[in-house]
Amino acid sequence: MKKIVIISDFDGTITKKDSLVQILDRFAGPAWRDIARLIRNGRLGTRIGLKREFALCRVTKKQFVEFILENTALDPAFKDFLEFCKRNRIAFLVVSGGFTLNIETVFNKFGITGVPYYANRVTFNGDRVRLRFPYKDKRCKACSLCKAPYIRKFKKRGYFTVYIGDSVTDRCPGKIADLVFAKLGLAEYCAAKGINYIPYNTFGRVKKIISGYLKEP
Ligand SMILES: [Mg+2]
Ligand SMILES: [Zn+2]
Repeated sequence: MKKIVIISDFDGTITKKDSLVQILDRFAGPAWRDIARLIRNGRLGTRIGLKREFALCRVTKKQFVEFILENTALDPAFKDFLEFCKRNRIAFLVVSGGFTLNIETVFNKFGITGVPYYANRVTFNGDRVRLRFPYKDKRCKACSLCKAPYIRKFKKRGYFTVYIGDSVTDRCPGKIADLVFAKLGLAEYCAAKGINYIPYNTFGRVKKIISGYLKEP
């Protein structure tokens, strides 16, 4: 069996709900939903789209962090899944089209350590939000942080690549990973594009399927 890497989305995959959606629903006007529709339809990339959505937000850093602490829950099987990866020497990392602040806040809240993660940055000026995209990839016009290069990098190093996601920013890696776990919008996208995927609801299902792979000769 090859070395395995599992690359996971964060919002709506590790957390039960997408924390960006929750924040926009609470702190931006309803118009952000129109922008989200353009992104889903491929009319707008996620970098410009996210910028426009968060330009509608009025939220201080304190409110932002408090809101995440109060309103996010983990996939119930996630911590057990991390232990499973450790036990089996499976590399696990998080690549998110959201923000590092959300990931840090949630990982701190639930005592999760030692998981590498990559995401965009958010800074605050009073109640105005600014976004930065340090991992922007010139080759992809669609993404604020394209996750496909992470899959490619591990493939080159001989890994069997697994991707887990739920939404728009998971499309690029979903197209090229060796094995894709998809739910919601990503599952719809894969079905429409004829991309093979395994439906999942929680990390419990992912663990079960990967365990099967480990037993193969
Ligand atoms: Mg997501
Ligand atoms: Zn991309």
